[in-house]
Amino acid sequence: MAVQAYAKVIDFATSVDRRLFDDRQEICRSLGLERQANVIDLDASELYPPLSKEETWVWLRFLPTSYSFTAGEWKDYSFDIIPTIALKEISKAFESKLFINFEIRTPEKLLIDPMVIGLQGRRMFPIVRWGESLKPFNEIKNIVCDKYITIYSHAGQISEKARNILCELIFQNSCGVSLYRRLFLYRHCGQKMATFSLNTDDDTPRAICPECGEIRVINNW
Ligand SMILES: [Zn+2]
Repeated sequence: MAVQAYAKVIDFATSVDRRLFDDRQEICRSLGLERQANVIDLDASELYPPLSKEETWVWLRFLPTSYSFTAGEWKDYSFDIIPTIALKEISKAFESKLFINFEIRTPEKLLIDPMVIGLQGRRMFPIVRWGESLKPFNEIKNIVCDKYITIYSHAGQISEKARNILCELIFQNSCGVSLYRRLFLYRHCGQKMATFSLNTDDDTPRAICPECGEIRVINNW
C-alpha cells in the first residue's frame, strides 16, 4: 500500500512556536481561562502545506464523501483498511493540536485513494493519503476537469494543451464548459476553432483553438 505523508520534517515538540503555545496554555489554565487555553493560535502551515484554492476545489470533487472527526463519524469508517503508517501520521497531526477538526475524504470507490485533511478555520491541510497506487495531483485534476467538459460530436477532439486551458476556466468560474461545433471562418494553428460556452449566465460566444487552446470572442455564433 502506497502512503504519502505531508508533514514537514521539523521537530515540532521542541520548536519555538510549540513552546509559545504550551506557555500560553499554561497561563490560560492558571487564569481559569479554559476555553482560551484550547484556542489554537499557531499557523498550521509551519508543519503542513496548506491546500491552495485550486487544490481544494479539485480534492473536494475527487473525494466528495467526508467523515468528520468532531461529528463522530470516524467510528463508522469502514471503506478500507487504513495502513498503520498512515494512522501514525494522523495521530501525529492530532498531537500537534493545530487543527479544530479532521476529515477522512474518500470517493468510496475501489482503487481510488482516500486522504485525511486537517482543518484550521476555513483552511485545509493535507495530512496523509494512501491507496493501491497514488495518482499524481495533475492526473487527478484532469480526471475532475473531464467531468466538467462536454464535447458534442461536431466539435471534434481537442489537444491536451487546449484541455488544460479549459480546466483553468472551469476552475476560475466553478462551472462546466460545452463545446459545440467547428467554425469555417475562425482558424488557428491551421485548424477550425471550436465554439464553446461556459455553463453559466455568461453567454458570450467564444471559440477555442483545438490545438493550442487560444480563445477568441466571436461575432457570428
Ligand atoms: Zn492555436
